[in-house]
Amino acid sequence: MHYPINEIFQSIQGEGYYTGTPAIFIRLQGCPVHCDWCDTKYTWIRADQDNVSIKEVINKNKFSRKWSFMSIKNILEILKKWTAKHVVISGGEPCLYNLSYITKILEIEGYQCQIETSGIENIKCSLNTWITLSPKQNKRPLYESIIRSNEIKFPILNKEDLLYVYDILSNIRDEKKHIIYLQPINQNKQALKMCINTCIKKNWKLSVQLHKYLRIQ
Ligand code: SF4
Repeated sequence: MHYPINEIFQSIQGEGYYTGTPAIFIRLQGCPVHCDWCDTKYTWIRADQDNVSIKEVINKNKFSRKWSFMSIKNILEILKKWTAKHVVISGGEPCLYNLSYITKILEIEGYQCQIETSGIENIKCSLNTWITLSPKQNKRPLYESIIRSNEIKFPILNKEDLLYVYDILSNIRDEKKHIIYLQPINQNKQALKMCINTCIKKNWKLSVQLHKYLRIQ
């Protein structure tokens, strides 16, 4: 099985439950959701002319649309250069692809897997994979994806986004099974204030995109 990979790098997880954890990020190419504020727009389109060699992807400029098909063997060879044991499979929308194989093999190799998804597709992965669901207003997540998630991380910019949080959560039978995070979009100060007030009121958690404050990838 091969996966179309835009980026693969080691850093610190800056969002949600695993904030502060050293992690290897595998960013897959392709996303049909198209959020206005997306900071990885270069992953949206998987065009044939951008399909390059693995070496080129490893050495490319961060914001480039270039991607490469990598086998699990290729991925493991790259991962072995690094020390982190937590792997975040992100995008783009990683659940456009069947992630059962990669998550199972990575677990056998001693890695903990996490998937960051908008939830618009069925999530196919190992049972132990940690699912971070981040629902977007322009494409509602599948009910099955919401139920499978361990944490639900809502991007917040305005009051409409907060209403969407309540709308999504009102359809879940047992909200307590999920850890709820509010995350201000792009360090917006008003959104941050709204998130802090709501988290205190509802006893939810705040996610601040630590990597952006630290100015790391
Ligand atoms: S779902 Fe994620 S990758 Fe896709 S457009 Fe929205 S923020 Fe960007």
